[in-house]
Amino acid sequence: MDGFPKRLYHTGLIIDLASERMLEKARKLVESNRVEHLAEGTYNVIGDHGTYTVVQNYAGKVSCSCPGFLSKGKCSHAAAVVILTSFKHKKRGNPV
Ligand SMILES: [Zn+2]
Repeated sequence: MDGFPKRLYHTGLIIDLASERMLEKARKLVESNRVEHLAEGTYNVIGDHGTYTVVQNYAGKVSCSCPGFLSKGKCSHAAAVVILTSFKHKKRGNPV
């Protein structure tokens, strides 16, 4: 629980994107490798109820094809992609 959700909350992005419960779910999706990078800015997320496409634009804003995102504008899949990409950026980061 420590470390990464906090860091994401810090960015502010995730707050708009997911509730705390969604975030926890999103973290599990990432941890169980259920987020596949398809192409630049395009991800497949294998959720509990189906596989959804999450698209991230140049600004880092994400959208998902699941019904939850369509109705609420937030979901654990989109949050999972944000988590994954922030991690990647972190890992790839050159020593400053
Ligand atoms: Zn979704």
